[in-house]
Amino acid sequence: MGRIFTEQFAFSASDSVVVIGLGRFGGSVAQSLIRLGHDVMGIDQREDLVQFFGDRLTHAVQADSTNESVMLQLGVADFSHAIVAIGSDLAASLMTLMVLTELGIKDIWVKAQTPEHGQIAQRIGAHHVIFPEADMGARVAHLITGRMMDFIEFEDGFAIAKIHAPAETHHQALADSQVRSRHGVTVVGVKRANQDFQHAQPETHILPADLLIVSGPTKKIELFASGGRKRK
Ligand code: ATP
Repeated sequence: MGRIFTEQFAFSASDSVVVIGLGRFGGSVAQSLIRLGHDVMGIDQREDLVQFFGDRLTHAVQADSTNESVMLQLGVADFSHAIVAIGSDLAASLMTLMVLTELGIKDIWVKAQTPEHGQIAQRIGAHHVIFPEADMGARVAHLITGRMMDFIEFEDGFAIAKIHAPAETHHQALADSQVRSRHGVTVVGVKRANQDFQHAQPETHILPADLLIVSGPTKKIELFASGGRKRK
């Protein structure tokens, strides 16, 4: 059952997470945190969502997160991590962030829908700003070209990717193909069919069907991967 915000409960949680906004993104983050073994309090103003998440999270509470006294009453100040997962209502997202900073939360994550939203959130005191839609769009664009089988881009255009071993690496040790000096990327792992990934070593011999995990600047990984087989 969902709980309403007037209910009192002792929930002291130095390493627990409060997720504000139980839409598609917030709900998914909250349930993943539960699967990882964390205590999670979800807050949303919509009764149906609070009902839905009532027995899926440690606590699900119906409340307006822009109301500081309600948030205080809920014990939100005891949480060390907070995620503001309100995307489309910019004012509600920023007001909620202000409340969380007033309450002294040490680690606040904000989902932003636009660069402006992200900039203001950072000015107000968000410790991390994430852009799930934009990030996923960029990731899918890389995967859709067929050169990369998986791809994660970090800050400043640095990425890690899973690719088919490019032809120039076949039938020789990694040290001999000189991938790092010629392409500016590092092979960190190698997977052979029916085997687990192994850490790449200079003497690791590459076969045509191998998969590689490579890290480096995104553009350089793309160039290196373009020598690989295209995904069917
Ligand atoms: P999604 O993650 O589904 O893409 P979204 O980015 O479109 O969501 P919204 O739908 O605007 O974001 O907000 C996400 C959730 O946050 C909604 O379930 C909404 O009810 C909740 N929400 C918005 N404002 C508040 C508020 N002031 N207090 C509590 N919950 C709120």
